[in-house]
Amino acid sequence: MAQDFFSESGKSQITEAIADAENMTSGEIRVHIERKCPEDVLDRAAFLFEKLEMYKTELRNGVLFYISFEDHKLAILGDAGINAVVATDFWNETKNLLVNAFKKGEYSKGLSEGIRLAGVQLKEHFPVAKNDVDELSNDISFGEDTK
Ligand code: CA
Ligand code: CA
Repeated sequence: MAQDFFSESGKSQITEAIADAENMTSGEIRVHIERKCPEDVLDRAAFLFEKLEMYKTELRNGVLFYISFEDHKLAILGDAGINAVVATDFWNETKNLLVNAFKKGEYSKGLSEGIRLAGVQLKEHFPVAKNDVDELSNDISFGEDTK
């Protein structure tokens, strides 16, 4: 099952990384994991972004990390507020970090580092406000398995 992809400590490592990143930036980061990507990876990420209602941020600065582990697909999708102010290669560094870590089998560690890096990068454009609200849950969401 997708839920079993990370150990319990891996899961808490990731949610802690999200909380750390969100202490730096008003951007809201979520992680979605599933076994297989049923369509084009960017279409899938866009679909899930809507489904998880990740557009519900004041500054439209939600970021989805999407991973399907059996077919090794990965997407990082930022909302319109981010795309309006960053270059198109903004996520490349984070993506490369993830790809390199995943090649070594370091999934939760790589993801945690990638999330923190995203926080550092987002901070430039979206610094955290004093009265920051956790607009989107930090919990990892998982795809439903069909078997
Ligand atoms: Ca927040
Ligand atoms: Ca959050």
